[in-house]
Order: sequence, then C-alpha cells, then structure tokens
Amino acid sequence: MDTVLTKIQKESEHVMRFYFEATDRNVLQFVPGQFVIFTIPGLAEFQNTRSYSIASAPGKHAQFELCISLNPNGIATPILWKLKPGDHFEMSEPQGNFIMQNAPELETVFICTGTGIAPFRSMLGHLLENGNPSKPVHLIFGNRFENDILYREEFEKLAKEFSNFHFHPVLSRDANWIGTKGYVHQVYQQLFADGRDARFYICGWKDMCSDARRNLKEMGYNRQQYFFELYD
Ligand SMILES: Cc1cc2nc3c(=O)[nH]c(=O)nc-3n(C[C@H](O)[C@H](O)[C@H](O)COP(=O)(O)OP(=O)(O)OC[C@H]3O[C@@H](n4cnc5c(N)ncnc54)[C@H](O)[C@@H]3O)c2cc1C
Repeated sequence: MDTVLTKIQKESEHVMRFYFEATDRNVLQFVPGQFVIFTIPGLAEFQNTRSYSIASAPGKHAQFELCISLNPNGIATPILWKLKPGDHFEMSEPQGNFIMQNAPELETVFICTGTGIAPFRSMLGHLLENGNPSKPVHLIFGNRFENDILYREEFEKLAKEFSNFHFHPVLSRDANWIGTKGYVHQVYQQLFADGRDARFYICGWKDMCSDARRNLKEMGYNRQQYFFELYD
C-alpha cells in the first residue's frame, strides 16, 4: 500500500513515533498486534524491507503509528531518521498472527521491553475502547532508565481511569527509580506465583522472549497460554 508520512515525534532519546496514512483507502483494516513490512528507500531490492508492529489502535480512518528504535549501527533505521513528513513509502498490508486470543474471562498479561510495547499499545487501545475490562489486564514494561519508558503518561492515565488496567514499569539500571527495579520476569513470576490461568503475550528481542518462555514453562504454563512476537 502507498503511505504518506504525516508527522514524526521524538518519544525518547533513541525512539521516534512515525505517523503514517494509507493513501489508497479511507480505512486501514488491521487486527491489533499486526505489523507492516516497510520498504526502506535507498536500499537494494531484497535488502530493503523491515517489519514494524503497528503501535496505534485501529479506527475509522487510514492513519497508523510506528514506534521505532534507532539502531545506530543498523542499515535501515539510520535512514528512517532522515525521513521527512510528506514523503511517500511502500508498505505491505498489515499482517501477522500475534493477536489477542478471545478469552475475556481470563487475565491478560502483556510483557515487553523497549519498542516491544508497540503491539501492546495497539491491543490496549482497542481493549479499553469498550470500557473497563471485566478481568485484570497487566502491562509489564521493562526498560533501563526512567526516560526510556515509552508512552508513560498515557499508560499512567489509563491505569487511573480503568481500575482493571495495571501498569508495571520496571527499570534495570536506574538507581534513582523508586518503583520496581530489575527485570520484567520477576514481576509476572510474583503476580502469578499461584499459577492461575491467564493469557501471556510477550514481545521484543530474542533474549527476553526466550527467558520468558522458559520461566512460564517452569511455572506450569503451556503454549495455549503464552504467545510471542520476536523482533530478531
Ligand atoms: C514482526 C516484527 C516487528 C517489529 N516491530 C518493531 C517495532 O515496532 N519497532 C522497532 O523499533 N523494531 C521493530 N522490529 C525490528 C525491526 O524490523 C528492525 O530489525 C530494526 O528496526 C533494526 O533495523 P536496522 O536495519 O537498523 O538494523 P540491522 O541490524 O541492520 O538489521 C536488523 C535486522 O534486519 C534484518 N536484516 C539485516 N540486513 C538485512 C538485509 N540485507 N535484508 C533483509 N533483512 C536484513 C536482520 O534480521 C537483522 O537482524 C520488528 C521486527 C519484527 C520481525
């Protein structure tokens, strides 16, 4: 699909929010959790695509947001940092199977680090659109420093507004942080120490995802209860 970049907004030191609009339709249909494949300008064919989860919830419009972290040694992201609003880009249709299972009677747990937040922001927006969820929804969001917490104000506001939405930021390197220190794993290990049924969604880089997979398995959960999206 043809898209136009409408706005770029700095979200943290290394992360930008890129706002796009599909130009060939009035409404962009997608399921929260899906990603698009971005054709990066200026790179040779067969080397010029990168996947990005849609970070916004679907709506009755063709706009969508990507939340992208700069890899200074990478091939694609330094190019993305030079894009200008008004430029047009080719992207695939939204795709992917990392979507919420229909289990409203169960607790939902989103576990991520860094830009792994993108699909969960989309899912949360969609989920909370219909009011307070009937069962608790936990967002366990790991970062290194306080300034790295993407969409922080938004999640804090949602947590105040919806009594069943629980935001658990956790920081690994911030000595001044008065909240939970350490890694995402200890948070769900404590919250679900009793092994009660829930649906766990995990997104981010391989190491965090494999640790979560191992931990959840050790806690007695199976593949019908946890789902992953790997960024590498
Ligand atoms: C489903 C999915 C969703 C993602 N969502 C996000 C997101 O929301 N936000 C975000 O910041 N990142 C996301 N990523 C990661 C993103 O796709 C890129 O890997 C990241 O932006 C780094 O790109 P880079 O080119 O700068 O780094 P590089 O290190 O150059 O490349 C990163 C990865 O791209 C692939 N790659 C490298 N060279 C080539 C090549 N020549 N041809 C084809 N592939 C190559 C490899 O898998 C490599 O590990 C997602 C990845 C996946 C798979």
